[in-house]
Amino acid sequence: MQQELEALLAVQADDMEIHGLEERLAALQPRLKELDQRRTRIANELERAQVLVTAEEKKQAHLRERITEHKALIDRNQAQMDAVKTMRQATAAVAQMEEARRIVATEESELVAINRRLEEARAALHAHQGALEACEAEQSDARTEVAAEQAALDTELSTARAKRSDKAKHVPVPLLGKYDKIRLRRRAQAAWAVKGTACGACDTAIPMQRRNQMSNHGGIDVCEACGVLMYFAE
Ligand SMILES: [Zn+2]
Repeated sequence: MQQELEALLAVQADDMEIHGLEERLAALQPRLKELDQRRTRIANELERAQVLVTAEEKKQAHLRERITEHKALIDRNQAQMDAVKTMRQATAAVAQMEEARRIVATEESELVAINRRLEEARAALHAHQGALEACEAEQSDARTEVAAEQAALDTELSTARAKRSDKAKHVPVPLLGKYDKIRLRRRAQAAWAVKGTACGACDTAIPMQRRNQMSNHGGIDVCEACGVLMYFAE
């Protein structure tokens, strides 16, 4: 009995170490999350700026096309002028041409406005690109540090887990199963030494007969109040 208890407590010591390493590993996550959130915020702004530039470029290309078409129309009207026979036809052709010229003038001033907006949008895009690069450069050290800590903890963890599984071979399977179930449920220490006459985890008094059973035979009992494994430490 005593041997089983010792084997179990050795496993538990490893589990506490593993638990501590896992907590340190989990504590790295908020740091990574904070870095990611800042980078994502800047990357989103950059993406919005890119969308704006693309939209203005599309408008610009479309308007340039229309101006070319309308200028071609003016040229055609000009050519037709030479073919007109009557005064009425001439007046109509001039009116048509003037209308086309007005349209082109409006479109050209629209184009000036778009060009200006596009220039501003490109400047903003450039600024966001710079901000993202600066953010990544600034975060590089922090990320390297977190990655190194993570790698070190991972190595420690796999060593600790290997050690634990070796030691677990010395614990009888039913006892180990019971212990693991309690440990996973509580996410912490599963086997507790009796403290005085009470359970070491919850302080509930243990009937004398069960206490004697543990102290005389090195037995392991379950606390009826909190469900942990109890043992008698000399
Ligand atoms: Zn208890």
